[in-house]
Amino acid sequence: MSLVRSNADKRLGYVAVDNRICVALSRARDGLYVVGNFHLFVEENATWKIIVDKIKETNLIGKGLPIMCPNHTDNQLICTNPNDFLKRPLGGCGLKCEFRLSCGHQCPSTCHISSHNSIICHKRCLKTYDDCEHQCQRVCHSPNECPPCNATVVLKMPNCEHTRDILCVMSKMNKLECAVRVPYTCPNGHQVQVRCSDLRNKELQDQLCSQPCDAILVNRLNI
Ligand SMILES: [Zn+2]
Ligand SMILES: [Zn+2]
Ligand SMILES: [Zn+2]
Ligand SMILES: [Zn+2]
Ligand SMILES: [Zn+2]
Ligand SMILES: [Zn+2]
Ligand SMILES: [Zn+2]
Repeated sequence: MSLVRSNADKRLGYVAVDNRICVALSRARDGLYVVGNFHLFVEENATWKIIVDKIKETNLIGKGLPIMCPNHTDNQLICTNPNDFLKRPLGGCGLKCEFRLSCGHQCPSTCHISSHNSIICHKRCLKTYDDCEHQCQRVCHSPNECPPCNATVVLKMPNCEHTRDILCVMSKMNKLECAVRVPYTCPNGHQVQVRCSDLRNKELQDQLCSQPCDAILVNRLNI
């Protein structure tokens, strides 16, 4: 409630009328904050002097409106001008919200009174995969499962000395074939480049040469 009167002429008007004072101060059901120039009221009006002396005894008068955060009740702020309310955005107190979200990360917001259902977590997932040593680099995607691991690994091929940069998820699959091109000289002396894994594949032995090759021709003619 605002008592509005604060003037150099020290005119209180109806704010000084006893039954008006009684009505004004007795309507509230849960609580009441009264804003006004109490120095003036005490000076000019006996009823207000009694009231103010009483509330001074109980320490219920001050220079501003105290606000406090429901999450951090000891972090009180006395607001003395309208901009002071801006120091407490989101209905909280400006401290970090330390709530642990359902994804496991800490709430990214400053202290707030709104529910956590609408908070979007932008932290990285960083969950370690079960079948490799990498961590999921995606932005938090709870409760959806992590996508396949897309870290790059240097993989040594199973049957040769070649290595290859490959996505981790691919390295978890079986059936890896070395695709490195290696030189091959066929029985007829043709020098060609073939896939390393083909060179090792017995079934492909007579098809490795890409040149018109008598060896194959002879072979095929004999069938
Ligand atoms: Zn708070
Ligand atoms: Zn929060
Ligand atoms: Zn991985
Ligand atoms: Zn999260
Ligand atoms: Zn993930
Ligand atoms: Zn190889
Ligand atoms: Zn050949």
